Amino acid sequence: MTLPTLFISHGSRMMAVEAGKTGDFLRKLGEELPRPKAILCVSAHWMTEAPVVAGTAKPETIHDFYGFPEALYRIRYPAPGAADLAMRTQELLQGTGCVIDPDYGLDHGAWVPLSYLYPKADIPVAQLSVQPYRDAAWHFRLGEALAPLREEGVLILGSGSSTHNLRELHRGSDAVVPWAAAFDDWLGRTLEDGKTVEALDWVEAAPQALRAHPTPEHFLPLFVPLGAAHGAAGRRINTGFSSGTLSLSAFAFGG
Ligand code: ZN
Repeated sequence: MTLPTLFISHGSRMMAVEAGKTGDFLRKLGEELPRPKAILCVSAHWMTEAPVVAGTAKPETIHDFYGFPEALYRIRYPAPGAADLAMRTQELLQGTGCVIDPDYGLDHGAWVPLSYLYPKADIPVAQLSVQPYRDAAWHFRLGEALAPLREEGVLILGSGSSTHNLRELHRGSDAVVPWAAAFDDWLGRTLEDGKTVEALDWVEAAPQALRAHPTPEHFLPLFVPLGAAHGAAGRRINTGFSSGTLSLSAFAFGG
């Protein structure tokens, strides 16, 4: 069976200790999906100029944030690394300048959602970086090149956010702010209708694009799973907002 590819909005770091609806959604999703042999996780929190894939044998849990409750810093996600998958990834990304990092651990863009998806931490994980100075089409092509992994039992997981403007969070509010809703609606419709060209042109085509993503790193992980599914129409598998502007929309492609 070919696995679907996924794009997950990883929400606030606090989700690590407060499951909420998105934690529950991820738990259920992990139970429903066919069990992958390994996971390639493209995290918004690892940014490099050229693609880097982690070939770390025992990835450390990286607590890449400051000023959060102590409980967050105690969490470990001890999944094994996936050195074979890292080598295979580098091979498939030939010509992109992809290199292997033998030491990088799991940043919170990876371990927070994975701790709900696969709480036993028993599936090997390799992380792949994003290139914030490259566009959506670049990341889509990386995904296309990685498509064979799906036949090899690898779950391709993009972890970012459907909207991400930390200067405009409305903490403590349940009301969804219109500009964020407009972008999120556009995204859902565009992906569900399989309008890949429009999705790749998001900076021009989407309403409120640069307000939803003043910087692109949380959006770019979407295009790797989309490319790995050859631009297949998406299914929106999670919805909702936190802090009024942070979309929790998640999508599955193909499979
Ligand atoms: Zn993030």
